[in-house]
Amino acid sequence: MKSAVPRALRNARRIFPRASTRSSSLSSLPRLGNNRLSGTTTLTSQHRNFSATTGLRDIDEDKDRKWSTPLAKQLAAAIELTGPIPLASFMRMCLTSDIGGYYTGAIEKDRDQFGLKGDFVTSPEISQVFGELIGVWFLTEWLAQERQSRGVELIEVGPGRGTLMNDVLRTIQSFPAMANSIDAIYMVEASPELRMAQKNLLCGEDAPMTESKVGYHSVCKYNALPIVWTETIKSIPIAPQKMPFIVAHEFFDALPIHTFELVSVPASKSEAPSSTDNSSPSSKTTTPTLQWREMLVSPTPPGSTHESLKTPATQSRETPPPDFQLTRATSSTRHSLYLPESSPRFRALKSTVGPGALLEVCPDASLYASDFAARIGGSPQHPKPKPSGAALILDYGPGDGTIPTNSLRGIRKHRRVSPFAEPGLTDLSVDVDFAGIAESATKASEGVEVHGPVAQGDFLELMGIRERAEVLAKRAGEEEKGRAVEKAWRRLVDRGPGGMGKVYQALAILPENGGRRRPVGFGGDVVQ
Ligand code: SAH
Repeated sequence: MKSAVPRALRNARRIFPRASTRSSSLSSLPRLGNNRLSGTTTLTSQHRNFSATTGLRDIDEDKDRKWSTPLAKQLAAAIELTGPIPLASFMRMCLTSDIGGYYTGAIEKDRDQFGLKGDFVTSPEISQVFGELIGVWFLTEWLAQERQSRGVELIEVGPGRGTLMNDVLRTIQSFPAMANSIDAIYMVEASPELRMAQKNLLCGEDAPMTESKVGYHSVCKYNALPIVWTETIKSIPIAPQKMPFIVAHEFFDALPIHTFELVSVPASKSEAPSSTDNSSPSSKTTTPTLQWREMLVSPTPPGSTHESLKTPATQSRETPPPDFQLTRATSSTRHSLYLPESSPRFRALKSTVGPGALLEVCPDASLYASDFAARIGGSPQHPKPKPSGAALILDYGPGDGTIPTNSLRGIRKHRRVSPFAEPGLTDLSVDVDFAGIAESATKASEGVEVHGPVAQGDFLELMGIRERAEVLAKRAGEEEKGRAVEKAWRRLVDRGPGGMGKVYQALAILPENGGRRRPVGFGGDVVQ
């Protein structure tokens, strides 16, 4: 039987807890939104052409150079040995390196990445309703998919402070049939500090954490469920009878990207064509060829200033001048030969845009999307007789299928800064290629289909955020608290320029059903 969403949510609402205002986060800025769309590091304005000789000479002159962070020094030493590195290697080191990555120990002991004292604020930290509605979304999928009585797994990738999972679990707890079907919770987290914060929130400060070959283990305060922390999703076992419910909120934007620019290479300078190059041998001598060039990271010249580097006006100049800059490789790299050829969407750029086309490719996003799809729909390596489960990916990026370009951002203390300033202390984030995620998921498993992306504002409104928030605001008692609840949810659905309701998107991966059943929040009804 099908019924309209609001009725189902009304039932759910009765057992939701009281409003707790997350007011400390209200005035802080999200990583994207509220007029923060402009001012990305444009490849065209900031890059220099890299030539092996000048790049290395710069480094030689840098022996006594003071680097802004220990990680910057380490990166410079690595580049001195290997030459300029792909942007993806730089991003990976800056975000999750053992020696002072942004999520792995670089920032001061007494603060984390989130909230007013941190660098940015995220939706679950703004309002509890966000996580509650994601819990309800999982519930609606569980109801629509034969209500498996065991084998359900909740998986979150990049769980931050654990707030979202806590709100999801508290919500599901109100539906004992689903709550009792959960076997385990998995959290994929690179940061030891955040892992501990998640454990404290979900299990209690006194709960012990043990280590095994798979990861770290503790017991959740909800239903005494086992929770397992791993550093990558690959460490979570896959089994055909499991029903995984997966959530990724502001995780994909932190995955490293490779960036490329399409150049026209004069015939005489043409390199031997790559295996995917269609040009015939004779055309090599007469017509220029289009080739992708990778953007690489190399040190800025010694003594650089914000002025000499032309730091864009949209980036704060309060940081020290950037230690590094993007340089365009003068010849093909390993990645430029195969990544831009890895999707028909990328290959089309040669004819639709031509020379000057820019391209961002995130191999890790494909790996995660493929993994989600295989868990839900099965794959040749992990056959699954009956697809089950669902994944919900919420992040920012184009909702119209365009490929992100120039999207690398540096964020520090709620300001946009150069992504190459103070490596390890600066958060890095990029736009998510939702169409690429959809392509990877459906390629990896015949047992899945993809819905969306839809704008976060539409998703949350269809999920009943307005009704839920009204109840919470009324229950809050004090007028001021009620107003804070109202302000928070309105912020999540704000569709104004740069508003969170517009720039954030939601995408769902579901068991394949020939498109007959649309999920709730994506235009579908609750199936009861
Ligand atoms: N989802 C949370 C946190 C977003 S911040 C929220 O919305 O509030 C990104 C999260 O992903 C952090 O928990 C960070 O430690 C984690 N993370 C970033 N890169 C990662 C990687 N490569 N592997 C695992 N976790 C990662």
